[in-house]
Amino acid sequence: MKIDDLETIGFSDNSRLNFNHDLSKLNWFNIGGKTKIFLFANSLKDLSLFLKKYDKRGKIFILGAGSNTLFDDDIYEGVVIKLGKNFNKISRLNENLIISGSSCLDKKVCDFAMENGIEGFEFLSCIPGSIGGGIRMNAGCYGREFKDIIVSVQAIDFSGKVLTIPSSEIKFNYRSTNLPNDLIYLSGTLEGNLSTKEKINKYVEKLKLKKAISQPLRVKTSGSTFKNPTDQTNKKVWELIKESIDLKEANKMFGDAVLSEKHCNFLINKENASSKDMKNLINFIRENVYKKTGVNLELEIVLTS
Ligand SMILES: Cc1cc2nc3c(=O)[nH]c(=O)nc-3n(C[C@H](O)[C@H](O)[C@H](O)COP(=O)(O)OP(=O)(O)OC[C@H]3O[C@@H](n4cnc5c(N)ncnc54)[C@H](O)[C@@H]3O)c2cc1C
Repeated sequence: MKIDDLETIGFSDNSRLNFNHDLSKLNWFNIGGKTKIFLFANSLKDLSLFLKKYDKRGKIFILGAGSNTLFDDDIYEGVVIKLGKNFNKISRLNENLIISGSSCLDKKVCDFAMENGIEGFEFLSCIPGSIGGGIRMNAGCYGREFKDIIVSVQAIDFSGKVLTIPSSEIKFNYRSTNLPNDLIYLSGTLEGNLSTKEKINKYVEKLKLKKAISQPLRVKTSGSTFKNPTDQTNKKVWELIKESIDLKEANKMFGDAVLSEKHCNFLINKENASSKDMKNLINFIRENVYKKTGVNLELEIVLTS
């Protein structure tokens, strides 16, 4: 892929282009090789300029907080784009509507809503991703998902066309939507209900406690690796894994890639696992769950290659 002409792009808002940029510190697993091109885009103007110049000559991956992504060990033959400064703003549009830039962390949006006495965003306190990643994944927990708060999303496609999509035009599925993969979410208009800071805070604390009791904290993970099956069985994915494999044995097989003993659908990089170790563990789990239960597990985490 030709890249020399990209080196001279003149950005207005201090966006940065790096070449052969290390990805391993940019995701929760702390795994991954390099990307041929890395764009840290500070504004829509710079992002749009880059997209037009790049003109889809190679692959494009949009990175949010990296809490649901497993990069490959090999070089990413394309551009990884991370959104910076101008995509990190939140404001209140009216009584119960918030507009949030897509690089804002979910937790920041939850805190902002709480400060403004708007309820309905409490579940965001338990998801360590960004608003852009949440829209893409239709992330959710404890009975709520992004679909319940989105009014519309603003996006730019890979050819540089900006568009606003109302939620009525989006089909939200379990941890996905029907929106095309060539969209970069810029911001989301989100809706809640008026309430009080005290009431919201109480509920946030309750959810955080629930999460702390059931899931491992402060580990290198991407959260739930596989989706819960929706039609084949009534069981949760962790139950299927538990009845299909010997955790202790599996944890000796793939280097530093292991299953959490607290929640076995959470895979963990103990120290220096490679992407290959993690993928081998993923395949091992899939094969064994299929053999034992007949259920084909579907990945929730996003793999790049
Ligand atoms: C400890 C832990 C707990 C978790 N708990 C939950 C949970 O309870 N519920 C849940 O649903 N998930 C959970 N997750 C998974 C993860 O946090 C969510 O999927 C989150 O929404 C991902 O956001 P992100 O910004 O980190 O996305 P990334 O990992 O950066 O990217 C994920 C996907 O979103 C795309 N993407 C990111 N930003 C944009 C953008 N601006 N425009 C277009 N596409 C974009 C990426 O290209 C990729 O396809 C957990 C993860 C961890 C590590």
